[in-house]
Amino acid sequence: MDEGTTATRVCTRCGQTKGETSEFFGESRGRLRTVCRTCNRLQDAEYKRKNADKIVEQRRRTADATRLRSHRWYVNNKEKHRACVKAWHALHPGAQTEIARKWRETNREQEQQRAVRTRALSPLIGRQRTAKSKAKAKGVVVANVDYQALLLQYGSTCYLCGKTIQGYELSFDHIIPFDKGGAHIPENVRPVHALCNSKKNTKLILPSVP
Ligand SMILES: [Zn+2]
Ligand SMILES: [Zn+2]
Repeated sequence: MDEGTTATRVCTRCGQTKGETSEFFGESRGRLRTVCRTCNRLQDAEYKRKNADKIVEQRRRTADATRLRSHRWYVNNKEKHRACVKAWHALHPGAQTEIARKWRETNREQEQQRAVRTRALSPLIGRQRTAKSKAKAKGVVVANVDYQALLLQYGSTCYLCGKTIQGYELSFDHIIPFDKGGAHIPENVRPVHALCNSKKNTKLILPSVP
C-alpha cells in the first residue's frame, strides 16, 4: 500500500483535512507546513496588506544596500568596470546609440529640458570639453572641472587682477600651469580675464622679458 496517497493532515487554520503532500501543504525548510496552501496564501496576503509600509521600507533598505555595495565595488574596481563596459560594447556594436535613442523617445520632455540647459551652458560646456581633452593630451592629472560650478563658487572676479570679468572677457586659468606640474582639477582652475590669463602665460614662458 502506498502511504503517500492515504496520509492526511488537518490544516491548523481552516481545519480542513487534506492530503499530506506538498500539493496541499507547501514546504518550508524541507518540511510540510501546518497550514494548507490556500490558507498560507491568505495569510501572506493579509500580512502584506497589514505591513505594506514596512515592506516598502524593507525593499528600499535592501535596494539602498545593494546600490551602496555596487558603488563601493565600482570605486575600488574602476579599471575593471571600464574594461567590462568596453568589452560589452565591443560585443554589442551600436547598442549605445540605440539605448540613447530609446531613452530619448520615452523621456521626450526630460530630453527637451536637457537640450535647453545644454544650449544655455553650451559655450561653457564646449570650453570645458576642449580644456579637458587638451589636458589629457598633455598627460596631466585630469578630473571633471565644472566651469559653471566654478563661476558659482568664485563669482565673476578675476583672481589675477581682482576686477570684474565681463562675459566676453571670461577665461579659465590653471593656477599652477601644466608644465609646472599643475593638474586639470577644480582646485587648480579659476575664472580670469582672458587678457590677464595670456599676460600670465607670457610671463611664465619668458620669465626674463621685462
Ligand atoms: Zn487551510
Ligand atoms: Zn584680470
